[in-house]
Amino acid sequence: MLTSVKTQARIVTSVLALMLPLSLSMQTAAAAQTDQTAPDISLKQPLGYQLPTAYEKAKAELPQDLYVIYRIVDRIVRTNDIDTRFWRVRIVPEYSTKAYAHSAYVITLDKSLLDLMAGDVSALAFVIAHEMAHHSHGHISELIESAHEASIDVSSADNQQEAQKRLREWQERIQKLSHNLELEADRIAYQYLARAGFDPEGSVRGLNTLAELPGGGLKSKTHPTISQRIEAIEALMVENPPKQLARRGRIQLLGSKPLTYELSDNGNSLRVDSKPRKSFEEQIEGRFGQ
Ligand SMILES: [Zn+2]
Repeated sequence: MLTSVKTQARIVTSVLALMLPLSLSMQTAAAAQTDQTAPDISLKQPLGYQLPTAYEKAKAELPQDLYVIYRIVDRIVRTNDIDTRFWRVRIVPEYSTKAYAHSAYVITLDKSLLDLMAGDVSALAFVIAHEMAHHSHGHISELIESAHEASIDVSSADNQQEAQKRLREWQERIQKLSHNLELEADRIAYQYLARAGFDPEGSVRGLNTLAELPGGGLKSKTHPTISQRIEAIEALMVENPPKQLARRGRIQLLGSKPLTYELSDNGNSLRVDSKPRKSFEEQIEGRFGQ
């Protein structure tokens, strides 16, 4: 039995480093897509008066970046019927040009990523859809479980040499797993994007921009090369044409309403509910009165 705290720490660190940073850079989101949602009209209001639609209300209440993100998440969830409790998107002030998925349904976007996205809402939607795919398909749990398994296996080796051998094997295995999960997240993101009615080429544009960054196109421990990723998406566009996906998305949209949301107290993150829900406050008051 060989238990090296250092070795275990190295495995966990190397595996946690695989936690799915997308590192995409692209051009910013400006125009949110318009939706066909009918405005809510209250009979209590004077004739001719219309309450603001859910989207008008969101636009008035939310900071610009989070409003655009809300519209993207709303559109992707509703057209793809993604069944999760909620999504939380937070914007952090770091400038490392990254987007990543972590915790439960949390997506973090660097401010610099948004800066670089000027004018390309479909590319931004691809970044978000890619991270949503990691969550909705359990990729994070899969990597954590592999890291845990690796740690037990390596630490149970009889000698240092065997431990090193097992560690190398696990690193290779986890790298391969991570690359496959990235390609899978790209595939799902393309479908999310197309069904939501965004420009499916936004996925390719986003990846191409990443390739322009220094070293951005190279293969890493966590990600395949950009050209491999683009090649896979282009093949998918032929195999699964965006027009058909968009048609299915529009049908799906008819049976749903704009999603509810909640802005965090510090204004940096937004929770978007996948299904309508009542707040704790509404529930407690509904049950026991005010
Ligand atoms: Zn990823």
